[in-house]
Amino acid sequence: MSEKKANLSGELKKYFGFSTFKGQQEQIIENLLSGKDVFVLMPTGGGKSLCYQLPALISEGTAIVVSPLIALMKNQVDAVNGLSSDDGVAHVLNSSLNKTQTKQVFDDIKGGKTKLLYVAPESLIKDDYLDFLKEVKISFVAIDEAHCISEWGHDFRPEYRNLKSIIDRIADVPVIALTATATPKVQDDIQKTLGMTDALVFKESFNRPNLYYEVRPKVNVDKEIVRFINHHKGKSGIIYCLSRRKVEEFAQLLQVNGINALPYHAGLDQKVRVANQDKFLMEEVDVIVATIAFGMGIDKPDVRFVIHYDFPKSLESYYQETGRAGRDGGEGYCLSFYDPKDIEKLEKFLAQKPVSEREIGLQLLNEVVGYAETSMSRRQYILCYFGENFDPVKGDGADMCDNSSDPPKLKDATADLTKT
Ligand code: ADP
Ligand code: MG
Repeated sequence: MSEKKANLSGELKKYFGFSTFKGQQEQIIENLLSGKDVFVLMPTGGGKSLCYQLPALISEGTAIVVSPLIALMKNQVDAVNGLSSDDGVAHVLNSSLNKTQTKQVFDDIKGGKTKLLYVAPESLIKDDYLDFLKEVKISFVAIDEAHCISEWGHDFRPEYRNLKSIIDRIADVPVIALTATATPKVQDDIQKTLGMTDALVFKESFNRPNLYYEVRPKVNVDKEIVRFINHHKGKSGIIYCLSRRKVEEFAQLLQVNGINALPYHAGLDQKVRVANQDKFLMEEVDVIVATIAFGMGIDKPDVRFVIHYDFPKSLESYYQETGRAGRDGGEGYCLSFYDPKDIEKLEKFLAQKPVSEREIGLQLLNEVVGYAETSMSRRQYILCYFGENFDPVKGDGADMCDNSSDPPKLKDATADLTKT
């Protein structure tokens, strides 16, 4: 056992250049390699990819990695291929490949070159892929972003629903499912749908002790935000609005007020969108005003504040979006504006949806309202929603919310402002 441990550390160093494992990575990998199904719940940035990349690199055969987005796959494939001196140990199989390219992928797998094969679930159901994969050596199957299986998650994809039967058709191998969505409902859904109720579960804390949470009533919101930003001059921040129109309007309003801000939403011309995002990442612009289209895969470590002009549709989204603040462990101020009328609008919108979607949507909204109106520790509320206990007095970051303390530095600033 200890020799195996030493080995894993050696492989970690060899492939990734890291000296130590993060969190429970080592135990996760050991269990997967010993043939067990494992289920990993870890916040974004926790280091989930390594939990299947490392075992894939050192196992015999090919690991199948199911991932929902082609862009995410491409990033990962490039990253993995940069790790090893052998060229091309990670490949993608999807509908964008032509016949020759597909044959090349098949040959690489047969030749034992491919250690990781990234596939989208909708590709996996193709008969010729299935027939081929049945005949080759598969080490294990990894299901990344496993919350896509659940309607209770924030990114449901129907194609994820049938994964279990597809995997069963390919091989009888261990499965590792990974997600950053920790609500007990989603967890339960994932385990049931994947037939993984006996899996070993590794859950890390979702607490972000360096984030300060504050909810304000939505009055004079434009002025409040301008003031806030002026007191955080030069710092990077994201402002989330629900509609594209609001994004455009508010970015303009900020500009008029001398704030270095740009808009971001899916309706903008691709070139403008990418340029605005790059300017934010390169710090040519301080503030990005965006819809939820902004953020997936964005890893800017020093975002100092995330403001919700409008409240999001679920606490899960709220957590993911506020989570983009303070990635480097430094200050992260999460300020949200709450108006019950906004919630009514969202309810009306849901009324046009099919029954099941509506019911789920309404329950998720109820939790949002509960959070916005609570007088308890906001950190405790969020963590409780994720099925985690938190001591609101002694827990890590216990005083970091409006209900637990006065805002740290802003108190004085606000006093100044009322005079001006
Ligand atoms: P997740 O998928 O959980 O959001 P990633 O797999 O993208 O997280 O990893 C987040 C970051 O952590 C990456 O930059 C990765 O290189 C880094 N990382 C992962 N494992 C380790 C480790 N053992 N030591 C140091 N950094 C690590
Ligand atoms: Mg990931």
